[in-house]
Amino acid sequence: MAYYDQHVHTYFSFDSDAQFEDYLAQTQQPLVTTEHLEFGNPDDGQRDDQPDYHAYKNRIAALSAQYPQDILRGIEVGYNPNRVADIRTYLAAGDYDLTLLSFHHNGRFDYQDHYFLEQDKQTVVQDYYRDMLAGLRDFHDADVLAHFDYGVRILEVTPDELAAWAGPELRAIFDLAVQYGLAFELNTKSMFRWENLPLYEYAIPLYLAAGGTRFTIGSDAHRSDAFQNHFDEAKALLKRNGVTSLTVYRKHEASSVTF
Ligand SMILES: [Zn+2]
Ligand SMILES: [Zn+2]
Repeated sequence: MAYYDQHVHTYFSFDSDAQFEDYLAQTQQPLVTTEHLEFGNPDDGQRDDQPDYHAYKNRIAALSAQYPQDILRGIEVGYNPNRVADIRTYLAAGDYDLTLLSFHHNGRFDYQDHYFLEQDKQTVVQDYYRDMLAGLRDFHDADVLAHFDYGVRILEVTPDELAAWAGPELRAIFDLAVQYGLAFELNTKSMFRWENLPLYEYAIPLYLAAGGTRFTIGSDAHRSDAFQNHFDEAKALLKRNGVTSLTVYRKHEASSVTF
């Protein structure tokens, strides 16, 4: 089996209209979608964005009868310190193959909000990683730490700045990720659309140094034309770091795919 995209959104996410069929048409591999679960979402008027699990499950069951490949269920949990009980209740009511864990907002603003462009860059970076570290201690019931750089996507941060402002926090974050068995995601949207490839070049060795062995690649597609974008470049970056396998998940069970 070849590696396949493990960060994909459809219309079950608040910010996507993508259809399953448009992804399925592009691959013979299993398809997994990872829909947003975001309680009190600042990017959506503080709404509780939660996929309709029964509709999602039924849609996948219907498609599975029509398509040869396996269609797997996934979720992207957006951490919210005030809503952890709600997150746990929601997750307990469904069965997933794959859970991504994401840090998207500070309670008031999504980190892609232009609000952050007007703040002191160093403070934003320090706050983001301090909050991520505290969040990870609080909640880590997931398979993959998604886009570790989400909070600095819209900022121009160099690896040297990241190291100076948040190096110790990042080391502690990756120590915890390894302790909790979380994979490191190469988010190709962050790396190429948001030009954070240098930050991944900095972070991958830190995760490896912490003892991390599990890597995933995700396009973070919200439209079908972004599906599996830049995967060759992401694989090349892993190879430069001596990594030769990727991890895929079924029923949260990790297995290794050589590439
Ligand atoms: Zn995300
Ligand atoms: Zn996503």
